[in-house]
This record gives sequence, C-alpha cells and structure tokens, in this order.
Amino acid sequence: PSAFQHLMQAPEDPIIGVTTAFSKDPSPVKLNVGVGAYRCEEGKPYVPQVVREAELRLLNDLSRNKEYLPITGNPQFTGLSAKLIFGEDSPALNQKRVCTVQCLSGTGSIRVGAEFLAKHYAHKTVYIPIPTWGNHPTIFTVAGLEVKSYTYYDSNTRGLDYEGLLRDLNAAPSGVVVLLHACAHNPTGVDPTADQWKGIQKLIRGKNMLPFFDCAYQGFASGNLIKDAFSVRLFAGDGGECFVAQSYAKNMGLYGERVGALSMVCGSESVAKRVESQVKLIIRPLYSTPPIHGAAVAATVLGDRELFNEWKADLQGMADRIIHMRQLLHEALKARGTPGDWSHIIKQIGMFSFTGLTKEQVAFITDKFHIYITFDGRVSMAGLSVKTVPYLAEAIHIAVT
Ligand code: PMP
Repeated sequence: PSAFQHLMQAPEDPIIGVTTAFSKDPSPVKLNVGVGAYRCEEGKPYVPQVVREAELRLLNDLSRNKEYLPITGNPQFTGLSAKLIFGEDSPALNQKRVCTVQCLSGTGSIRVGAEFLAKHYAHKTVYIPIPTWGNHPTIFTVAGLEVKSYTYYDSNTRGLDYEGLLRDLNAAPSGVVVLLHACAHNPTGVDPTADQWKGIQKLIRGKNMLPFFDCAYQGFASGNLIKDAFSVRLFAGDGGECFVAQSYAKNMGLYGERVGALSMVCGSESVAKRVESQVKLIIRPLYSTPPIHGAAVAATVLGDRELFNEWKADLQGMADRIIHMRQLLHEALKARGTPGDWSHIIKQIGMFSFTGLTKEQVAFITDKFHIYITFDGRVSMAGLSVKTVPYLAEAIHIAVT
C-alpha cells in the first residue's frame, strides 16, 4: 500500500522526452536534433576551451572556499552580467536603477521574476508569443500569473507576423506583462527587425506594459554580443522599466551548471533597492542561495580581458558553424529538388530551424531514419555536421515527397 497509489503516470516533457527516446534507440545511425544543445563537428557535447581555462584558474586558486553565496548570488558575476547585456555605458546601470540577482540559469531567472511579479505587480497577466519555448506557459502559470498569447509567427511566410503581433498587443489590456525573446526566438528562429523592435517598443511603452525579456542566446545568434543585445538595450535605454532573464547555458556551454541572472530595471535607484530586498524574500525559501561554481566560471571569463576575447572568438565560431549548417542543409534540399521553398532555413537565426515539417512527417522521420526532432518540426542546427546534413536532407526529402 502506498499513500501515492492514486497517482497517474505523468507525461514526459515533450522536449526532454525526445532525448530520452534518442538515448534508448540502439540504431548506429541515430541523430538527435531535438535537444537545444551545441555539438561540435563530431557530434559531441562541446565545452569551450575558455571555460576549461577559467575552471583551471579557479581550481588552482587556493584562497577560494565553499562558503554560501549571498542570496542574490556572486556580486562580481551579477555586475559583469548586467554590463554584458545592458552595455558598459548603460544609462540605467549608471543611474543604479538595475537590480541583478544570480539565479538558476534562464529557467530559474524567469521563475524568480515571475514569482516576483505575481506577488508585487498590479497586473497578473503575461502575454507570450505563439509559438514559444514550451516551458514558458508552465513557468508563469505555476508562479501564479494568467498566461495569454499574442500572434508572432506567420506559417505562410515562415516569418514574423508583425501586423498580427501589433494587433494582439494593442487589443491587450494596458499594464500587462509581455514576454519577449531578446534574440534568436525559440522555436522559430524569426526575430523582429530593428525598426519592428522600435514599433513594438512604442506600443508597449504607450500602453504602460512591462516587457520581460528572455535572453537565452546572447552572442550565439549572430556571433556578436552587442548585436544580440539590441532589443534589450533599446528598452533599457528609454528610461522605462523592464525585466531581463539571462542564461549562460548556450553561449558559454554551461548548460548543467545552471548559470543565469535576473535583472530588474527599475524607475529609480531607491525602487531598485527595495526591489532587491523583496526579491531576496522570494529566493530565500525557494533555494536559499545559488550555487558557486558556474557563476565563478562565468565571472572569470567576463572579468578577464584575455579570456573574454577568447570567449568572443568561441561564440563567433559556434555561430558560424550553425550558419554553415543552415547553408549546407538548404543546398542539400535544393540539390535533391525537394518540393517547397526552403529559404527560411537560411533566413532564420540562432540555434533552431523551424522547418515547417508536420507532426506526421516528424514521426515518419524518427521512425524510419532514427532522426529525433521535436514534434513542432524544430531542428537544432547545432546538432548537425557536414557528415549528417545529407542524411537529414534525404529524410526530409522522402518525408515530404
Ligand atoms: N528560454 C529559452 C527561449 C530557451 O530556449 C531556453 C533553453 N532551452 C531557456 C530559456 C532556458 O534554459 P536554461 O534554463 O537551461 O538556461
């Protein structure tokens, strides 16, 4: 007998479930392009050399200990993290209007921000794009916010439905929270242009909404840290308030180390101070204090000119390899004469290509070719290599013809 006899078997997470199924597949030709993790040309997990170097420095520094961090995390890390996303000369930072706390990667940062909003923000509704990263609606719902959505993607053009986005946000009540992907929108790989961002900014500020940026791919999208911070800096530079959740999972390859930060850009220095005091009350009963190691690695890289430059080169290398995979896959489909326009594969940016493959086509490809793709047709370009592109192209070709 068990007190939990009544429990039903819960469904597996749709994204993590893809990797579980992949791991169980004994096929020697199997390929995982479901998981959003960078792989090197050999298909292996990749730890940037700069991360290994930072870890060696930390290991050899015998003055380090294992004491608890403050509730808000490693102050060196949070300071450098804020500078990375907002810029060295950010007015909001200079005016000390920003409160930054170390959290458990991107997910933990969004969750802490969501908990804070549910407790302290006047409006309890968040608007998220359709589609979006599958964890977004759940994170906000469990934190106690009502989740509504706005149009984002146009499946006909396989680009941004800018008119639809403006229409939906215009129709939304003033003051609500709006979740925005800072760059490299997941899963679509479609981002607004600079002008479109300005239009979105005008609407959001005009309706006194609170923008909440999810920034999981800074530097990973274009290869350039500044370029990928454009949208966040636009909003953080206009004097208004916004939240930003940063993740170092992808751009530093620190996935399992859970390194991230939540920044709350506030109206004044005194508000930022009070916000910090209140966010500590949210964190303390959740996990008390964040872990030491990953944040120390990130701070070491961000705080040392030589390591920082090395990291920038690594980022460019990862972004370039992904862009190269886009070109190869596009060429391979064209060479096969695969029906349809596949130019979106080279137009989309970031880790993923939103291929347009249907659920049935994805199931067929997984079944026949042992290629693992999320059900929405999202392919991780970072999981491909020169060797595996032709195999995927062949599978897609057969699936759509
Ligand atoms: N937001 C988006 C859009 C993501 O794609 C991810 C990673 N899959 C995250 C947030 C957070 O990931 P993590 O918690 O591993 O930093």
